[in-house]
Amino acid sequence: MSEPCPLCKSAATRVEYELTDYRISVCDTCGFEYHDGFGGGETEMFSADYYQVRHREAFQAQFGDFTQDASASVYRHWLEVIEARAPAGRLLDVGAALGTFLKIAESRGWKAEGVEISRFAADFAREKRGLTVFNGDLEGFPAEDGTFDAVTFWDSIEHVTHPLENLNTAVRLLRPGGVLLLTTDNFDCLVADAARLTYRVSAGAVRYALERVFIAPNRSYFSEATLRAILEASGLRIVILEKMEYPIDKIRTNPAERLILKGFYGVARLLHRQAQITVLAEKV
Ligand SMILES: [Zn+2]
Repeated sequence: MSEPCPLCKSAATRVEYELTDYRISVCDTCGFEYHDGFGGGETEMFSADYYQVRHREAFQAQFGDFTQDASASVYRHWLEVIEARAPAGRLLDVGAALGTFLKIAESRGWKAEGVEISRFAADFAREKRGLTVFNGDLEGFPAEDGTFDAVTFWDSIEHVTHPLENLNTAVRLLRPGGVLLLTTDNFDCLVADAARLTYRVSAGAVRYALERVFIAPNRSYFSEATLRAILEASGLRIVILEKMEYPIDKIRTNPAERLILKGFYGVARLLHRQAQITVLAEKV
């Protein structure tokens, strides 16, 4: 028995991949793939060690000029895109982490606030950066409906237990015509296909590739189709949808994996099947 679909609520679901410590189910009604029996997220991701040990280099870079790193230029680019539709007003970043995006938004005139489930990250953003960050999940965030001009989700929607309800809340907080920017992994991509293939040809015996790509801390494994479906179900109209690759420098790989990834990236670009999607949508 698998859980009903977290997206369309259909009971027509089945286990697709039986992995070592978790399983992935798929909905036969809408095609959504999800971590079945998700226990509310991996606490490791929220810990001080996650930032200070596992992502040590990125963490230490926060004490230098973090406004010049690779993510910062991506943030600036998308803020320009947002500002073309919604002039700098009130912005909420869901899954604000250490607050780099909030800092950059602030510097451009936004009244930026964050929601962050990690106590460590929220404290860092508040104490070291003087930001306004609520420690908890979006459901518990105290704010009036219709008061935000923009809401952003940078690689965070895939980790929440109830993605549809979370997006509904975000949309409720937006004013009519307000914009939502979201970036997440695309599992209808070449790398994911290769992982699926190793599982299938080995009749489920080889799980390594699948577990490296369809990672356990994800609740949702979106494709372009299921991402479009969930955004539309939340009352959003998609304005821009772009696909891109995840920067290799941000992935912990060994040299062999790195070489394989580079090859995949080249082919994926040609086929328009890259591993990440960014969407800009508008509240209708
Ligand atoms: Zn479904």
